[in-house]
Amino acid sequence: MTEKEQYRYANIIIDISHEKVDRPFQYKIPASLLSVLEPGMCVSIPFGKSNRLCNGVVIELTGRADYPADKLKEIIEVVPDSVIVSADAIRLAAWMKKNYGSTMIAALKTVLPAKQAYRPKTRKSVIRLKPPEQLRELLAEAVRKKQAARIRILTELINEEVLPYELVAGKLNISAGTLKSLENQGVIEVRAESIYRNPVRLTAAEETGKQLSEEQRTIVEEITCEYSQGIRGTYLIHGITGSGKTEVYIALIKNMVSAGRQCIVLIPEIALTYQTLLRFYKRFGDRVSVMHSSLSQGEKYDQCERARSGDIDIIIGPRSALFVPFPKLGMILIDEEHEPSYKSESMPRYHARETAQALAAMKGAALVLGSATPSLEAYYRVQEGRYKLFPLTRRLTGGTLPTVYTIDLRQELKAGNRSVFSRKLQELITARLAAGEQIILFLNRRGYAGFISCRSCGHVVKCPHCDVSLAKHKGGRLLCHYCGYETPEVTRCPECGSGYILGFRAGTQQIEENIGKMWPSAKVLRMDGDTTKKKDSLQQILTAFAERQADILIGTQMIVKGHDFPGVTLVGILAADLSLNANDYRAGERTFQLLTQAAGRAGRGDRPGEVVIQTYRPEHYSIVRAAEQDYGKFYEEEIIYRELASYPPAAHMLAIVIGAATAEAGKGLGEELTGAIRDSGSPVRIIGPAEAAVTKIKDVFRFVLYIKHADYQELIKVKDVVEAKINNQESRRESVQFDFDPMDRI
Ligand code: ADP
Ligand code: ZN
Ligand code: ZN
Repeated sequence: MTEKEQYRYANIIIDISHEKVDRPFQYKIPASLLSVLEPGMCVSIPFGKSNRLCNGVVIELTGRADYPADKLKEIIEVVPDSVIVSADAIRLAAWMKKNYGSTMIAALKTVLPAKQAYRPKTRKSVIRLKPPEQLRELLAEAVRKKQAARIRILTELINEEVLPYELVAGKLNISAGTLKSLENQGVIEVRAESIYRNPVRLTAAEETGKQLSEEQRTIVEEITCEYSQGIRGTYLIHGITGSGKTEVYIALIKNMVSAGRQCIVLIPEIALTYQTLLRFYKRFGDRVSVMHSSLSQGEKYDQCERARSGDIDIIIGPRSALFVPFPKLGMILIDEEHEPSYKSESMPRYHARETAQALAAMKGAALVLGSATPSLEAYYRVQEGRYKLFPLTRRLTGGTLPTVYTIDLRQELKAGNRSVFSRKLQELITARLAAGEQIILFLNRRGYAGFISCRSCGHVVKCPHCDVSLAKHKGGRLLCHYCGYETPEVTRCPECGSGYILGFRAGTQQIEENIGKMWPSAKVLRMDGDTTKKKDSLQQILTAFAERQADILIGTQMIVKGHDFPGVTLVGILAADLSLNANDYRAGERTFQLLTQAAGRAGRGDRPGEVVIQTYRPEHYSIVRAAEQDYGKFYEEEIIYRELASYPPAAHMLAIVIGAATAEAGKGLGEELTGAIRDSGSPVRIIGPAEAAVTKIKDVFRFVLYIKHADYQELIKVKDVVEAKINNQESRRESVQFDFDPMDRI
């Protein structure tokens, strides 16, 4: 009896994502599978009273039955072509389930980039087995016998030892019969070799690395040295765009690859894959590949196979690339780690940075984060001594930091200027158009909807309990989405008494129209949700602007990322504080990030740039510090606010999101859960239940409970209390989802 055969039972997670079946079920292993079955295999099993056929994932084999063995059902078979979930992936899924709250099967599906196995693609070719002289004799014979097909193929084979099968069957039009007879004569062999599907279709000349600057070299040396000493650290590289972070990543990866290790590179969004890939491809060639949602299932599967077999060293992609199964993972790198897109929007709502940290710990890998405007989380951990900070202080392409003007829109109004362009911005736009230089106008639309501010004094109507702005709802009432606080419509500013208190309404389209009126000859491109709906249209707009087919590019958030336009010498930020009014606690951080990045678009070429920041709140620290490009000072002020209000990263927060058929049922369950959490003796603070920001989606009413505590483990316990409570309710119709340290208002 082999060791494996002693395991006669298997614990299996059923492929049904429902809390009620979210535990392992035990099955008997049939004799035929005793020596075959392994943890991670997908099996077919009878489930429930009706024994309907289900799939499940084996997470454990055991020799001991937890129930009388005759009561256990038997596994039917291993599902053909299913992917085996590795032990590492099962551990990571269990970690995600525990830390983010989801069913085990949902967590398992998340950590599997490819769910089904695909037969390898094959490449067939015809190979010559005899020397050319012998083929010439055969050719002469074929000519005598007037065998046209033989003449065609033998002629080719005299010159080429290997012919692609497509050529032979296609252009040469040789039948299978002819090939067979040549094969039987020992003249040729038809060979099929399996090849991986490779989504990287690039040809680019190889480039050698740049001579690293002193700052860059220090980073690479220290991290590499720590790694070789067995230290597995987390490192934050803080450097503005263009300061050489990517070059550092490449040098670090070179060292890892030389040491026989593999690396994962995460980027914030799929649209940036191509430019990053191209740079890596020039250094690593076919040893680098990509993983993202636009790949076919077969391509995804093959990238996992290539990772497993060591055919590649590096994978690049958005957050799901984290789950590519590298057996020798040495380093995970996360570029622009502050980007909100690293948080998953479906269950389990994992954050790629935290998950990468857990994965790195499991696999003994190092973690490298990079950002021009680090998340408060990352910088907080630097202060705590958990991450090591490396600054990159200089832009390597030349180009100085731009000159920034902050314009107070309240003063513009006082001076009688009601246009969306301040006098300073008008003056600079006119000058740039005359000089033939390019302009970017940035409309910060985040948090656009709903908030109310005073045009005379800049006052924003806020919740007295939560320090976030109130949002306007139907009928004019104002509502806090954290605690449910509500007040009637405001028609006079409570600060200065002005009646000019309202929402900001300029959209990108109105701005384009305004430009048309003021500068009729200017050529304008607009980039927003409307103009980029079609596939590739985003890239087309960017290319057109880069080729200087337009003078002005107007856009929302999308234009601030990654793209380099050397012709741009002026950036106008039209309403910098719009995003400050997004009613969530990250508003100040997001504003600082967006402004810093937008300002960074100016003066990337050889001429110096200028930036105009228009705002109703020029005194707000997010705006002041962005104008100064001073992250350190911004952090100091922002972290005080987080500490005072117990927001992450100073404390942790769990949003429990309830979906219900009626508002009463949703609120009712919210109150019930509040009671259960209180009864459990938990020390957490409970806020709500309140209506969610989006009160209804597809006729499902949404409520949210916010739970706060300094210790994440206390939030996990609350999640467990809630799960236990809802699993005990037989006929519960409401849904409950968890969002730990949410990125946005719910
Ligand atoms: P980041 O990732 O911080 O935006 P990059 O690594 O893309 O910065 O570098 C910005 C530009 O500077 C790139 O064009 C890159 O080729 C160049 N660069 C980076 N490091 C060096 C170096 N040591 N010497 C010369 N040029 C460099
Ligand atoms: Zn006012
Ligand atoms: Zn409130």
